[in-house]
Amino acid sequence: MKQKILISGASIAGPALAYWLHRHGFEVTVVEKADAVRSGGYPIDIRGTALDVVRRMGVLPQLRDAHVDSRKITFLGADGGPVTSIRPEALTGGVAGRDIEVRRQDLAYVLYDTVRNDVEFLFGDSIATLHDHDGGVDVTFDSGARRTFDLVVGADGIHSNTRGLAFGPEEDYHHYLGCSFAGFTMPNELGLSHEALFWNVPGRSAVLYGVADSDEVLAVMTFLQPEPPLDAFRDPGAQRDLVASVFAGDQWEIPRMIDAIRTADDLFFDVAGQIHMPQWSKGRVALVGDAAFAPSFFSGQGSSIALVGAYLLAGELATRPDHSSAFAAYDAAARKFVDENQAIAISGRAALLPPTAEDLALRNQALLGPSLPSGDEGLLVNSSLQLPEYP
Ligand SMILES: Cc1cc2nc3c(=O)[nH]c(=O)nc-3n(C[C@H](O)[C@H](O)[C@H](O)COP(=O)(O)OP(=O)(O)OC[C@H]3O[C@@H](n4cnc5c(N)ncnc54)[C@H](O)[C@@H]3O)c2cc1C
Repeated sequence: MKQKILISGASIAGPALAYWLHRHGFEVTVVEKADAVRSGGYPIDIRGTALDVVRRMGVLPQLRDAHVDSRKITFLGADGGPVTSIRPEALTGGVAGRDIEVRRQDLAYVLYDTVRNDVEFLFGDSIATLHDHDGGVDVTFDSGARRTFDLVVGADGIHSNTRGLAFGPEEDYHHYLGCSFAGFTMPNELGLSHEALFWNVPGRSAVLYGVADSDEVLAVMTFLQPEPPLDAFRDPGAQRDLVASVFAGDQWEIPRMIDAIRTADDLFFDVAGQIHMPQWSKGRVALVGDAAFAPSFFSGQGSSIALVGAYLLAGELATRPDHSSAFAAYDAAARKFVDENQAIAISGRAALLPPTAEDLALRNQALLGPSLPSGDEGLLVNSSLQLPEYP
């Protein structure tokens, strides 16, 4: 009989895992809290090993069609005056023409499309309780439904519900990176297309991304804070007030951004943080993607390591005699790759959010200097892995 696997979360890791598990012959159910695959999020890169995963999934052509093709990042000083413009690859270590940059939502839709007719999706629901025993995992859902699965995988993001139920509270695994960010869309009054403007003062940054010829741009405002702003969680009004007060008095497009955040209906606010866990599985429950090893946006690797993790977890489950050895093999195969990519966030934060005037001057010097890396040698080079072949 086919093994039944429940996945929580239908963003990047969840549908990718569902695809590979289905292909390996498992019976898959995906539960997603939202009523549909969620939209939003700024452009993300698929590079290196993750590119191999999407190639093997057969979705490379669709992703190439959705390619954002950023051509320029212009760094700006406090008054909005340009410091310098660089090719995006000089920052990320990507290779123009080979790597893919897509809006997060486009990647999520493409992945969902690969499995929507093959596996069961339960939208608008969430796991309420998990009872792991010798014969399987008994699950109750918020809707009141009860079912039993052979295995459960949490792919439900950095604030994973599954991790909370099976492994304990988030504070045991969450490492705060000292800053918060707010992302939202706003009118493209500067006419940006295929480029980003990156404004910095010490401890604060504001970015406008024009991903294509569009009347909207993606805005992201990031700021250092010694302690996470716990009061602002779950309260969009408090989040808007916090951003407005932190950026009050700043120049350039900041006043317009503060106005826009007041009315944005797609505000995405969070602290920048990472998840570090000694083990990604416990009994019959495992984690993948941000739920297990969120690297933060400073690494530029969240979606890539989620895709690779999903491929490895499914492959090991398909080829090992039991779930315990499969979970151990998944950990062994992915751990070093994950650690190295999580570590990029530290240099990413230094490059994107210099804390002091001195650090900012040094960052700008590096951007202006003749030693600015090119090709595969960007400031934030991702680590790669040779993907195993699974039958
Ligand atoms: C709407 C949205 C916008 C994002 N924007 C950005 C961004 O701008 N920058 C950035 O760096 N990262 C962003 N991310 C995170 C980014 O997608 C991840 O870092 C990365 O792609 C890894 O994906 P993941 O599938 O592991 O986790 P995520 O993409 O976070 O997906 C988790 C999924 O689980 C679902 N979920 C959460 N709780 C439950 C529950 N209790 N039951 C069932 N499902 C649940 C969520 O709705 C979501 O669909 C965003 C994520 C989302 C969902």
